Amino acid sequence: MALDQKPVKVAKPKSIKKPCNGKKPTALPPHAPAISLEELGWIRRPQLTALGKLGITTLRGLLEHYPRRHEDRKRFDHFPDVAGESSFCLSGTVGKTVFRRFGRMRSFEAEIEETPGSAFSALITLRWFNLFHVQRSILTGARLIVHGKVRLRGKRLCMEHPEFEVVTEDDRESIHLDRIVPVHPAGEGISVRVIRGLIHRALSETDWRGWIDPLQHQEVDWGSALRNIHFPESLEEIESARRELALRELLGIQTLVTIRRNEARKPRGAAKVSQGELLSRFLKALPFRLTSTQQEAVATIHEDMGRTHRMSRLLQGDVGSGKTVVAAAAILNAVGSGYPAILMAPTQILAEQHFRNFQHWFEPLGIPVELLMGARKPKPVKTLSATKHPGILIGTHALLHNESALRGMGLVVIDEQHKFGVLQRTRLANSSSAPDVLVMTATPIPRTLAQTIYGDLDLSILDEKPPGRGTLRTAARTSEKLTEIIAYLKGQLENGRQAYVVYPLIEESEKLEAKAAQAEIASWRERLTPFPCDLLHGRMSAEEKKEVMERFVRGKAKVLVTTSVIEVGVDVPNATFLLIENAERFGLAQLHQLRGRIGRGSHTSTCVLIEGSGRSEAMERLAILERTNDGFIVAEEDLRLRGSGDILGTEQSGLPPLRIADLYRDSDLIAVASLEASRILSADPSLDQPHHLPLKRLKEIHAPRLSETGG
Ligand code: ADP
Ligand code: MG
Repeated sequence: MALDQKPVKVAKPKSIKKPCNGKKPTALPPHAPAISLEELGWIRRPQLTALGKLGITTLRGLLEHYPRRHEDRKRFDHFPDVAGESSFCLSGTVGKTVFRRFGRMRSFEAEIEETPGSAFSALITLRWFNLFHVQRSILTGARLIVHGKVRLRGKRLCMEHPEFEVVTEDDRESIHLDRIVPVHPAGEGISVRVIRGLIHRALSETDWRGWIDPLQHQEVDWGSALRNIHFPESLEEIESARRELALRELLGIQTLVTIRRNEARKPRGAAKVSQGELLSRFLKALPFRLTSTQQEAVATIHEDMGRTHRMSRLLQGDVGSGKTVVAAAAILNAVGSGYPAILMAPTQILAEQHFRNFQHWFEPLGIPVELLMGARKPKPVKTLSATKHPGILIGTHALLHNESALRGMGLVVIDEQHKFGVLQRTRLANSSSAPDVLVMTATPIPRTLAQTIYGDLDLSILDEKPPGRGTLRTAARTSEKLTEIIAYLKGQLENGRQAYVVYPLIEESEKLEAKAAQAEIASWRERLTPFPCDLLHGRMSAEEKKEVMERFVRGKAKVLVTTSVIEVGVDVPNATFLLIENAERFGLAQLHQLRGRIGRGSHTSTCVLIEGSGRSEAMERLAILERTNDGFIVAEEDLRLRGSGDILGTEQSGLPPLRIADLYRDSDLIAVASLEASRILSADPSLDQPHHLPLKRLKEIHAPRLSETGG
């Protein structure tokens, strides 16, 4: 948490100065964005060290250290007289202070008064535990600004561990009072106040003429947006400055994505044009007709494979949407035009299941199907092509690292691989045979992420389930309704259906107060007599798990009391009821995946989410699942609620982390940035060259890692 120790005098802005004397001259002008803070010459050593720990080493890094929030210190909130969930920003004078020690715990309390001396002055107690430096800086009579939530402790209104600043004499004149004040993330050895002062000085001393837009080779007004985000004159200025800076940030990202996309589309693959004879024989033999979205996906893939550029395509579709036959159609296109193909699954069990399916589908067509497990060397492709057609190879994702297995492949299909990183993609694209690539995932990816992390992949979406599936209803309830729910569940069991009951944890944990499957199995057996209930969780041995699953599949057990680790590939169409306890502990996307266990047969299925925290926000979040079965909407909502903070900036994305843009709030800007990036790149194709200076600068600014992967 950000705490202040000592009041720090903030230097008045001075006129622009040359970097410190005695320093080696550098190639960078004194106010270039990339100049190091050390070279600025006016930041003290301990502060430099503390900033370094926050990852701030350059002028640009400091100016892009954006505030967490702002406080309007022109007028403070009135001291509240009841506790509540909202945060207050209060200004008051320190009265009594108390230091207490109980065992190893120490606490420090300070009362602050709104209008000292007045008989009716409102009073709040501030309280800290085990924090020594606090008591050193809060003295009776001092004026404090505090920010936090007010709780009732005994009969007193209390703020525990509030953020605070001590007001000093010259603050009247300064940047800390009587204005809208930024609150930046602080850290060990550096307070909010000190950071505020440093940023203020850096802003007033920077010569913005050095700040050329790295992409457009033109001067842009960085100064006003940066000034307004840190030290706005009005609250409205903040949002427009934020949007402007977000757009600039997204433009940088979209330029990298567009370069990657152009790279992926370079014509180096071979065009695969088959007569379609294999495909029509395959479709005729299937016991069902393709849905129209499946047909559409198959047609798009064929068209894509028929071009000379490489295909890089992501096929998205919820569990059970029928991606496997689409993959089979793509593979037939490769085989029919003389190229072998490879199919990779995440687990051995799934690979074996694919192997059985494809043998059944392809052997009547004269196409050899080969399963490659473990570290065995693949048979050379020649052996496979000894028959009429080239063959297909099936294995696990481990084959991605098996050069010899990949050699000569015309098509690589990767099943259930949501986390298909940019490095893996680049490796495949640069391999000697440059195969077409089809990645399949059941995890819906929000549009904004598809445009960024997967911006180099084309998308095909199966948004329609094959016909003949029963409806799936979802209800979010509190545990008060449990009796009714159990009565409904018993009715389902009497009709011959089966059910899952899911708990978030395996063992009772006092700390989390979560109910656990293990602790609850006995009570479920009692509630649901005479129907047999079994326990299944991740800590059981593989043998035990298999036994339990078999009993459930054969209908010997009617109910599985289990955890979120319901085995991958559990497919029991007769199970029509799913109850999730403490559902608020799961993410929306995970709940959506969990409810994919039911709704697989022709009967109507019911998913009940039990909300256990009693908080209205939690219930509102679960209500999203009541409203929609659409995984894409759920994923978008999940992104909105959890924020996009840590999604970019990962190895997987190969993109810089976002500092100010939000993939949900600013999704409209992504489209704008994407168009603008294409325009800039087509106006100046030299930007696409890895040695191009502005691009190199962009990469340096964003993340050193990019130089390996970006283009
Ligand atoms: P997923 O997209 O989860 O990989 P699968 O490809 O395993 O789904 O398909 C799920 C089930 O649906 C399989 O049994 C498959 O044969 C069946 N299926 C696929 N397409 C259709 C369709 N058009 N009509 C009816 N059943 C289909
Ligand atoms: Mg599948």
